[in-house]
Amino acid sequence: MGRDTFFLTTAIDYVNNVPHLGTAYEKIAADAIARFRRLRGEDTFFLMGNDEHSTNVEKEAVARGMDPQKYCDMMAETFQEIWRKLDISYDGFIRTTDDRHVRGVQKLFAEIHRQGDIYPGAYEGRYCVSCEAFYTEKDLVDGRCPSHNTEAKWISEKNHFFRLSKYRDRLLRHIEEHPEFIVPAIRRNEILNVVKSGLEDVSVSRSSFRWGIPLPVDTSQTIYVWFDALINYISAMGYADGDARFSKYWPAALHIIGKDITRFHCVLWPAMLMSAGIELPKTVLGHGFVSFKGEKMSKSLGNIVNPLDVADKFGPDPLRYFLLREVPLDRDGDFSWELFIERYNADLANDLGNLVSRTVAMIVRYNGGLVEDLLSDDERTGELKSVAESSIRDYSAAMDEYKIDEAVQSTWKLIRRANQFIEETAPWQLAKEQSKREQLLSALNALLESIRIISVLLLPVMPGKSAQIWKSICLSGSPDAQRLGSLGWSGSVVEAGRKVAQVEPLFPRIST
Ligand SMILES: [Zn+2]
Repeated sequence: MGRDTFFLTTAIDYVNNVPHLGTAYEKIAADAIARFRRLRGEDTFFLMGNDEHSTNVEKEAVARGMDPQKYCDMMAETFQEIWRKLDISYDGFIRTTDDRHVRGVQKLFAEIHRQGDIYPGAYEGRYCVSCEAFYTEKDLVDGRCPSHNTEAKWISEKNHFFRLSKYRDRLLRHIEEHPEFIVPAIRRNEILNVVKSGLEDVSVSRSSFRWGIPLPVDTSQTIYVWFDALINYISAMGYADGDARFSKYWPAALHIIGKDITRFHCVLWPAMLMSAGIELPKTVLGHGFVSFKGEKMSKSLGNIVNPLDVADKFGPDPLRYFLLREVPLDRDGDFSWELFIERYNADLANDLGNLVSRTVAMIVRYNGGLVEDLLSDDERTGELKSVAESSIRDYSAAMDEYKIDEAVQSTWKLIRRANQFIEETAPWQLAKEQSKREQLLSALNALLESIRIISVLLLPVMPGKSAQIWKSICLSGSPDAQRLGSLGWSGSVVEAGRKVAQVEPLFPRIST
């Protein structure tokens, strides 16, 4: 990882189903982090992708009478269409059937094999086909998978094993010496307990499945889907071909994954990298889940059932806002239509939407839309300025720690302060007296200056609305060309001949 690069990844998704709300939440959160890093001027690479070598995927293809590869091609289109709809700004998309990935897996396997860390053996044990994971008896509930509540099948076959046990001590030391390696703390403690209680070698091949990457040392077997999938993080960056991109961006700054797959990412993956002599990622973040109980939607939203479809009606930003504001990455959360509409109307339509439309409307009404170079430093303006500056600071600090919900709240602190500023300065009163002309123009400019800062802070969470707000206050350039380091209370008002015109409401209220 270069000093100014930031490589972040999400989990790659099984394609036996279309993305659901929880999958979308992960991508939206990762996207907000990627956009924040770019806003900071860091050379960011944001990777996503699909996990295609799963028996669940093969089964789904067969059930539809499709060739697995053709089915995966179709699903890759479907997934990326959804990600575009949600405005996810990924820089790379890896599929585990891509040539570069297959070559990457073979190369890493060969490295690990050369270290003497792969050996043949017999595997017997319980296996959940849906999880594609082995279970020990103590992890099962009455012989059933704790996640799927289906019977974990007894598997007995000749496999190849990875010497995971050999890396136990090194891994333990790494986790202890690098508190930032696994976040949040609850996940870190879980993994510490797993590693402390001892690690067993793991089977990394299957003799019974054909849909997968052939095992280089025994082509009658395929590579275990998890061993295969984890390698996407380096294969996508050209690991197999010694690409400059790989040396530039690796190690990853951040793997964002669901809390249910932290063991693979915090135990198996680092041990694989240690064996091959590759640096470990800096941070693995295991986020919580978003549940949606599928309750009846509000009448006002028509026939929208799936929360993801709310993007068709309102664009992606209100959903992005809701999820990032409502569900911190380190916790589980709920989506409900009631709460969604409440937040939309209160935070977006009232607080943010009104701030922008009132400000623009007053400039149109009291000065023909013209923005004049005038910004005084009276006490009230000074106070607004200081809230703006502390919001920028708090926002950056929170985003740095992946506390997106707190960053959003810092932004809203400024939005609410600006609305309060309107009430306190009462421009409609100032407009009545010619002697208060300067005071009036300065107050309106102070509001514009707040809105300019707000639109930049909103960019990671609501990229579309951020650009729309920027445009509605008639600034040249765009918010994504701004840099957080130089964002401050300054002279945006001096752009000569700047004139604003009445705007469409940003967030038309949802009637309830
Ligand atoms: Zn399972």
